[in-house]
Amino acid sequence: MKEKVKCLIIGSGPAGYTAAIYTSRANLSPILYEGMQPGGQLTITNEVENFPGYPDGITGIEMMEELKKQAGKFGADLRRGIVTACDLSKKPYTVTIDGKKEIAADTIIISTGASAKYLGLPDEQKYSGKGVSACATCDGFFYRKKVVAVVGGGDSACEEALYLAGLAQKVYLIVRKDYLRASQIMQDRVANHPKIETLFNTNTLGLFGEEFVEGAHLVKFLGEPNEEKFDIAIDGFFLAIGHKPNSDVFKHFIPTDENGYIKTQWGTTKTIVPGVFAAGDVADPNYQQAVIAAGMGCIAAIEVERYLNSIEE
Ligand code: NDP
Repeated sequence: MKEKVKCLIIGSGPAGYTAAIYTSRANLSPILYEGMQPGGQLTITNEVENFPGYPDGITGIEMMEELKKQAGKFGADLRRGIVTACDLSKKPYTVTIDGKKEIAADTIIISTGASAKYLGLPDEQKYSGKGVSACATCDGFFYRKKVVAVVGGGDSACEEALYLAGLAQKVYLIVRKDYLRASQIMQDRVANHPKIETLFNTNTLGLFGEEFVEGAHLVKFLGEPNEEKFDIAIDGFFLAIGHKPNSDVFKHFIPTDENGYIKTQWGTTKTIVPGVFAAGDVADPNYQQAVIAAGMGCIAAIEVERYLNSIEE
């Protein structure tokens, strides 16, 4: 028999846990499934310096442990498991966990976040776990005193480059444009770090190495008259080129934008399906900040409560 729940929360980043705190305090007995990456992306980030209330910063892992504790304290049922299928065509909605367990839910909060993107080079797969990574905090340790490259020009790339510069002998930052799009504070830190060399107007063509990555084939001014191909010797190749929202499993029922972000009614977390809400990075193409995800989780929880009240009336 299907387990029945008033509110099912999918995902365990700041949006999911905030929704769990609010819905459990509202006596909705939520069940939260943690998803592929328990604690979400903050668990693979280094220091969180911009979440209000932490003047000295806090590690992403610590922050997520605290959020989880807070959600558990108010009675949210926090479980391991990944949503593998769903049927949002009729009420109560059905969600399948790990391909077997089915849950019938009156309301759902989708807070499945986003995952790191890759360039799409065959070499990324060839050297996966052998020098290619999308998580400096997870794998940086292996590159102590070595030479690494980070691809990307946003805040993630700068953060990864700076983190790796604390461990490695040298860090190349490979940026396809002639500028960084990261926040000014991060740009300044990168520019002033003696171990980071930024290669502007540069793209990656491939990687090389016997078994592990030993270098990258790069090109400067791709497609321009002054195009110039060159190689760099590196031991590690880190991707930080943005994220793809984890919305695939819901796409059949819920419209997304061209990049896969779930569409919500402006100013709310309401999706096209009544009683199904989306919060955090999976529904946020613009900001992707922990504090905003937490805020969206709060909005979703309040909307769940109002929705349940409206259908009970
Ligand atoms: P962004 O989308 O901001 O940046 C992605 C970067 O990768 C861009 O420089 C982009 O280049 C580059 N890129 C994308 N595709 C390719 C490709 N195929 N080849 C080469 N380069 C590529 O993503 P982030 O993950 O950095 O940040 C996402 C959001 O999260 C932002 O809003 C950011 O501010 C936020 N964030 C905030 C942090 C903080 O506050 N501490 C930390 C990390 C993220 P181009 O510019 O040419 O498009």
